[in-house]
Amino acid sequence: MVNIMPELRQNPITKDWVIIAPERSKRPNQFKQHRVQEKITKLDREEKARCPFCPGNEEICGKAVLAYYEDFGEDAQSKWSLRVVPNKFPALVEGEETSRITEGTGNFFVKMNGVGYHEIVIEHPEHFQTIATMPCKSVENIISSYIERYQVLIKKPNVELITIFRNNGPGAGTSLRHPHSQIIASPIIPIHIRHMIEEAVRYFDTMGRCIYCNMIKQEKILGKRVILETDYFVAFAPFFSRSPFETWILPKKHKASFATISNIEKKDLARVLIDILKRLYHGLDNPDYNYMIHSAPYQEDPADYYHWHLQILPKLYKVAGFELGSGIYLNSTSPEENAKYLKEIKADVSE
Ligand SMILES: [Zn+2]
Ligand SMILES: [Zn+2]
Repeated sequence: MVNIMPELRQNPITKDWVIIAPERSKRPNQFKQHRVQEKITKLDREEKARCPFCPGNEEICGKAVLAYYEDFGEDAQSKWSLRVVPNKFPALVEGEETSRITEGTGNFFVKMNGVGYHEIVIEHPEHFQTIATMPCKSVENIISSYIERYQVLIKKPNVELITIFRNNGPGAGTSLRHPHSQIIASPIIPIHIRHMIEEAVRYFDTMGRCIYCNMIKQEKILGKRVILETDYFVAFAPFFSRSPFETWILPKKHKASFATISNIEKKDLARVLIDILKRLYHGLDNPDYNYMIHSAPYQEDPADYYHWHLQILPKLYKVAGFELGSGIYLNSTSPEENAKYLKEIKADVSE
């Protein structure tokens, strides 16, 4: 058997490297998880009965900081369609004191209070829904809630960075099936985010344009990694994909902060997000995944050099010793082949 020469590919934004070493024998459809047709079992029903996010259990999570309601007519009661609640087990908690404290001689170890906000977006009242199976209106609601909470949290004292993310499935870090995402507002900007922004500034200084706008242009010219393009967004498998089926969704209109997107962009983003997650759902049988929204810190907007975007990372392999030891990701699939595979999957998006 002749081995294909692996490639080392560089991410032009972070300058990180990945190894793309596709296994000859493995086709994209071999990543199917064989889950979509699962029936709802007795165990699932028991899990639902205990679910703190299901309607009827609202008091477990406490008062919502944001809620949307559906009106079912004059006689019917209004039911919630989405709730945002503080996390019962927060990573960071509300507080004011953010002074640095040190341990050891010469102020060697630095620490501070874990202040911030940690909220859960309960995306839908129905326990067994997921974004891939939701109507557009529900996903528009999810995006609206992200924007509303972003705008509130960024004005709080000591908030420097807001991370919006979704963990789907146990392999992606959640055991709770009820559809939800999370928002964490933190008092610091970690070094890898700073680095990403600094590299974008450096590129802008040299080239006089946004590196992400150029990446969209390059991907559109090459075409082979583009999965989907609409009036406002483009979705593609990055040249430097860290994992099988990594997908980025970028707005075609340059904007640094996610929180400033227009109503029409919001509607289009809902459709694109459903479409891509549907392709993953049907093409790979509901794989575990994480998605994260990367947005310039609010203070940075407007900024010519940064461009908000959404990254989807399916969890189809485990990060192991090599990645942890070297910081180089090892991807055993071809981003071009994966994009082609996802492009061919039918994803009817219902209104
Ligand atoms: Zn539930
Ligand atoms: Zn741009």
